[in-house]
Amino acid sequence: MEKIRRTRIADVLKSESFGTKVNVRGWVRTRRGSKQVNFIALNDGSTINNLQIVVDIDNFDEEVLKLVTTGACISVNGTLVESVGQKQKVEMHADEIEVLGAADPATYPLQKKGHTMEFLREIAHLRPRTNTFGAVFRIRHNMAIAIHKFFHDRGFYYFHTPIVTGSDCEGAGQMFQVTTMNLYDLKKDENGSIIYDNDFFGKQASLTVSGQLEGELAATALGAIYTFGPTFRAENSNTPRHLAEFWMIEPEVAFNEIEDNMDLAEEFIKYCVKWALDNCRDDVQFLNDMFDKELITRLEGVLRDDFVRLPYTDGIKILEEAVAKGHKFEYPVYWGVDLASEHERFLVEEHFKRPVILTDYPKEIKAFYMKQNEDGKTVRAMDVLFPKIGEIIGGSERESDYDKLLSRIKELDIPMKDMWWYLDTRRFGSCPHSGFGLGFERLLLFVTGMTNIRDVIPFPRTPKNAEF
Ligand code: ATP
Ligand code: MN
Repeated sequence: MEKIRRTRIADVLKSESFGTKVNVRGWVRTRRGSKQVNFIALNDGSTINNLQIVVDIDNFDEEVLKLVTTGACISVNGTLVESVGQKQKVEMHADEIEVLGAADPATYPLQKKGHTMEFLREIAHLRPRTNTFGAVFRIRHNMAIAIHKFFHDRGFYYFHTPIVTGSDCEGAGQMFQVTTMNLYDLKKDENGSIIYDNDFFGKQASLTVSGQLEGELAATALGAIYTFGPTFRAENSNTPRHLAEFWMIEPEVAFNEIEDNMDLAEEFIKYCVKWALDNCRDDVQFLNDMFDKELITRLEGVLRDDFVRLPYTDGIKILEEAVAKGHKFEYPVYWGVDLASEHERFLVEEHFKRPVILTDYPKEIKAFYMKQNEDGKTVRAMDVLFPKIGEIIGGSERESDYDKLLSRIKELDIPMKDMWWYLDTRRFGSCPHSGFGLGFERLLLFVTGMTNIRDVIPFPRTPKNAEF
């Protein structure tokens, strides 16, 4: 076969160089046609759109064409021609076809369309080959780029916080332990506690549940930073919104107070949503048409509306009034409750019909590092609540006063041996600062319209599942 440099199908479809010879390579989506002429729909992952390849049967070896089945990988040399009456303005007339890798029709699992999402999760190694997951993972990439660009353009530094951590008090959730000890032969002291002296790190170590504490160290030196990395929570939460391994974006900014933090969160999330509409239009449109007819409307709605900013106490009042009027929630509503997703979504979807930033939560349900309000009951927390998702961002202004922070740490019995370095930020040159965490997959749920978080990460890790 003549050697021609490969062109991506995304570029071929934009081309108007009719008559030129190009090479494309990709995976066959379908092949149909008659005894004289066949049409191959070829996809190479560069776009949701397939290239139509017209094959004049007489010019090709029957044995080669037999292998051109759904899922096979082929390389085609051919001529670009203007297509008439097609969705695409260009198609290719094949001159030469080489089968790089056949896919046995009897065993290739993605033979026909219309598989359930559950089935596709069982073949997570192949699901990126479907239209849906191709779209989702292209959007996932684009969102990562948008996030870096947003912060970089605003003078934030990308700061790498550790994935293995020696502090068990990050305060955000249950941790996975990291050890090289022989679990069949653990050394214990007279109280039955495990002795970690001979473990790899010489102490108990875990996978991080949040990079925030280290992020604060960086913010009080570099001014404004963000982290963007893997995060692990060993909670047994079998919901469509929780993963055991997910990616989190955590900006932290010196001198920002809670209002600045809310402004940043709102601007940031709108930027990401706009980026998806501007840069992933074909993929978003596909997901809108196939899964969720309201998707684009919802994305545009978020861009248009100012987010409601409301104290938790007022939010509880609204929910209590709804209950009084007969609205049924699965979980009870009262001041002090940690809101469930159904409560958050009621405020957003039913009551305000736009995103809500809920502030000033009871201190008992929030982490120790949040700035305490004058009332002695609430802290300067802010959760951003979104339609379909509930909480998408959790953040706060941090307690910058050494004594107040210390007394809260003591109240909660957090071991001081783990906290000395964190407290040093408040001992030396302390300043007001704020930050938040956005779950990358929660953002992707919103932007793609997918309803299960397992379908926006390539290889989901959830309780009892770590396949692939
Ligand atoms: P939730 O109440 O939904 O369990 P959280 O309050 O425990 O979340 P935070 O500690 O505030 O979560 O984490 C910040 C953000 O990280 C959340 O707003 C959410 O977007 C995301 N997040 C938290 N836990 C998970 C998880 N298990 N899987 C995916 N994303 C998560
Ligand atoms: Mn939270």
